[in-house]
Amino acid sequence: MEWIKGFLKGFATTLKVLFRKPVTEQYPEYKRPLPARSRAVIILTRDPDGEERCVACYLCSAVCPVSCISMQSAEREDGRRYPRWFRINFARCIYCGLCEEACPTLAIQLTPYFETSQRDVLKLVYEKEDLLVNHGGKNKEYNFYRYAGVTMVGDKGTHIDEEEPVDLKSNLP
Ligand code: SF4
Ligand code: SF4
Repeated sequence: MEWIKGFLKGFATTLKVLFRKPVTEQYPEYKRPLPARSRAVIILTRDPDGEERCVACYLCSAVCPVSCISMQSAEREDGRRYPRWFRINFARCIYCGLCEEACPTLAIQLTPYFETSQRDVLKLVYEKEDLLVNHGGKNKEYNFYRYAGVTMVGDKGTHIDEEEPVDLKSNLP
């Protein structure tokens, strides 16, 4: 009798879901809105002054577990660093987000946009022109260069929000 019970239970489940509204989402006609912190295509953002945020410090490149970021640093006359070129190989990227975590200037950010599949794998290598956007991404107000990174103009302790330098000798016994 056990087998009849199992048999009927199976049919009952089928009947129960037979007239239920389908939950299938018809992609790509319907694109489910993804959370803002979803991790997909990477961008290089700009600060509120419209300048590129990246200071070519190589931290993202060093932390990337699959070594898919490369760049060449350069320096402007005022001491501001920037990447002469910046390249991400999305064919290798695993969208772990470590580069975003490591970036001191909030330049590199992952976005929810994921529709980038290509037949030609070389088209997944993005250059700086493809990565650099005209906005600040998730944190529009942050401006690393307001606090650090440009050539010093005043004495130590005179920059915006900078604390007075510590006199090391005052710590001696
Ligand atoms: S998301 Fe991860 S794998 Fe992709 S570039 Fe950043 S650190 Fe590398
Ligand atoms: S994106 Fe950020 S971590 Fe990477 S080189 Fe530029 S400033 Fe450094």
